[in-house]
Amino acid sequence: MNILLLGKNGQVGWELQRSLAPLGRVIALDRRGEGSLCGDLADLDGLAATVRAVQPQVIVNAAAHTAVDRAQAEPELAERINAQAPAVLARAAAACGALLLHYSTDYVFDGSGQTPWQEGDATGPLSVYGRTKLAGEQAIVQSGCVHLILRTSWVYAARGANFAKTMLRLAAERERLTVIDDQWGAPTGAELIADVSAHAIAQVRAEPAKAGLYHLAAAGETTWFSYANHVLAQARQAQPAIELKATEVVPVASSHFPTPARRPHNSRLDTRKLQAAFGLVLPPWQAGVNRMLLEIL
Ligand code: NDP
Repeated sequence: MNILLLGKNGQVGWELQRSLAPLGRVIALDRRGEGSLCGDLADLDGLAATVRAVQPQVIVNAAAHTAVDRAQAEPELAERINAQAPAVLARAAAACGALLLHYSTDYVFDGSGQTPWQEGDATGPLSVYGRTKLAGEQAIVQSGCVHLILRTSWVYAARGANFAKTMLRLAAERERLTVIDDQWGAPTGAELIADVSAHAIAQVRAEPAKAGLYHLAAAGETTWFSYANHVLAQARQAQPAIELKATEVVPVASSHFPTPARRPHNSRLDTRKLQAAFGLVLPPWQAGVNRMLLEIL
């Protein structure tokens, strides 16, 4: 089985290189491509040509314009990468009978309320990023290709920059940290996303009726403020000699840190549909975060 993976060096893409390997021959590309294969999602013709050349049975798209604030200033580019490129991949997947796995986001919702969002709930993106990601989802559904769209939230990985690393750096420099306490969600590890993706691909290949839209996030919920406290406490416990100056973490409202893109207050995702369909258990968010901390400390 040929698996075409796009965005191989992102948080999720990197972990997919590992988790997809046992399923078949993985042709993994970043935006620079390889040989004559184009991996740049901004090059729509090149992307279609790549699918025709590889003739994959599965396409996994882990690439996206994920710079949420920058997207506000470059909506055309965000639209091309997050909406038009998935549309091209979906049409190409339909043409060659491939399964397309694509990732989307809690940012398709308006963040109102306090209950976890279900797959069928009304969307209402607050930002260019959210709007373009939603358009990508819709294009995939409309294409008629066999697809898996996994909406996830608050992704972190041991590799590259992440919120936990930023908190540890700031805590080493400052005595007082201020962290947003009115946005709720579940930090979700790229490892978990990649492992669930591989399971879901295998199952949908055997049972195409399981294709569709699913929410995928670690279990439980927290705010950035509580997440930061958890990270600092875990770091002190795991490495008692660690030098963290921070003695005070102060909860603040989102309005304390104005950003070009508005973020949803409620990013909770209801994952019961995914767990039931694929017979999987999503572990509490702390399990993955603690593991990642042990890796980076
Ligand atoms: P990352 O930002 O870590 O990775 C995105 C990847 O896309 C990067 O490797 C980037 O490459 C690549 N990319 C950007 N533009 C292009 C392009 N024109 N052509 C090819 N590749 C490109 O994202 P994640 O791994 O965290 O995200 C994976 C998926 O999950 C995305 O669909 C995202 O929307 C979704 N998601 C992410 C969340 C998060 O908190 N991060 C939350 C919810 C959903 P380069 O490094 O060269 O720019």
